[in-house]
Amino acid sequence: MANGKQDYYEVLGVNRNASETEIKKAYRKLALQHHPDKNPGNKEAEERFKELSEAYAVLSDGQKRATYDQFGHAGLGNGGGFSSGGFGGGSPFEDIFGDIFGDIFGGGGSRRGRGRRGDDLRYNLSISFEEAAFGMETKVQIPRHQRCEECSGSGAAKGTSPKTCATCQGAGQVRYQQGFFSLTRPCPECAGEGQVIESPCPECRGTGKTKAKKTLALKIPAGVETGNRLKLSSEGDLGVQGGPPGDLYVVITVKDHPIFKREGQDVICETPISFVQAALGCEIEVPTLDGKLKIKVPAGTQSGKVLNLSGKGIPHLQGYGRGDQLVVLRVETPTHLTARQKELLDEFARESGEDVHPMGKSFFDKVKNLFD
Ligand SMILES: [Zn+2]
Ligand SMILES: [Zn+2]
Repeated sequence: MANGKQDYYEVLGVNRNASETEIKKAYRKLALQHHPDKNPGNKEAEERFKELSEAYAVLSDGQKRATYDQFGHAGLGNGGGFSSGGFGGGSPFEDIFGDIFGDIFGGGGSRRGRGRRGDDLRYNLSISFEEAAFGMETKVQIPRHQRCEECSGSGAAKGTSPKTCATCQGAGQVRYQQGFFSLTRPCPECAGEGQVIESPCPECRGTGKTKAKKTLALKIPAGVETGNRLKLSSEGDLGVQGGPPGDLYVVITVKDHPIFKREGQDVICETPISFVQAALGCEIEVPTLDGKLKIKVPAGTQSGKVLNLSGKGIPHLQGYGRGDQLVVLRVETPTHLTARQKELLDEFARESGEDVHPMGKSFFDKVKNLFD
């Protein structure tokens, strides 16, 4: 510990394959013990508490934890990013602060009316190649929970109202003693709700919410790719006990196109041409995102040659302009020749000698040198 940081797993006293729950549990326990409010003026406890919070900030975040597992403290840069700035400066602390410390240090009974945020929802949207390229608008139906209209979300049948729980006096928590700590757990009588419903609303069976389908208009910007996420704030599931709703994430999948492939902002299109077209040069029509386009193939074109159609690609999602379309020419060797066609090609071969095939000549010259 003299130089360098202590291992985060050691800080929390868990092993390296501890589950999320185990980590959270370990953090709760230790954080309670070393919380500055419980140890006023104790520098050591304060230091330890900072370490705990920092370790938890990393190990409770799947991505950060993976980085830490692989690269250690070095992988996280700045040694973890939570150490300075005292308490409550962001991070995990906030989301479980209320959860743990609110009840114990903030005076009980504050649970009611505080509510919990609703769940985030995910909606998978599959769109075509062209829709991804140019953007689109669509309406989707999101199944989610909504406030029950029958009981206005109270969960109690018409003409009645929920009663404050007698066991916990509405706190939703009951205290118990463990060692010298006074701890709390959810009230068994009301399951932590703080109130009991004697005659439940028949519509929502006392939950205060009903399943509904909300129609939402989505605007998908031009240039999106598979895996892009669109966040719609507060369009997720209903909050619990007056808490704010969660968010909705629309996750995009772009369907394959029969002709086009995508590389970044560029559209790749393989186009077959005959060997006669390649040799003599020609004009061909190629499909683009904007419709058909005539392009010139120069005489003597080799298979694999790429023609660049500038600005015919996909618009940049953030920014201006478009990528290119790359037309990859594939020279096709003819099959199923008629007798007359074979005769013409034989004649062509006799006529041409080696001079018309510079690539081939150079190759076979090299082969000759190799074995001589
Ligand atoms: Zn209760
Ligand atoms: Zn209801």
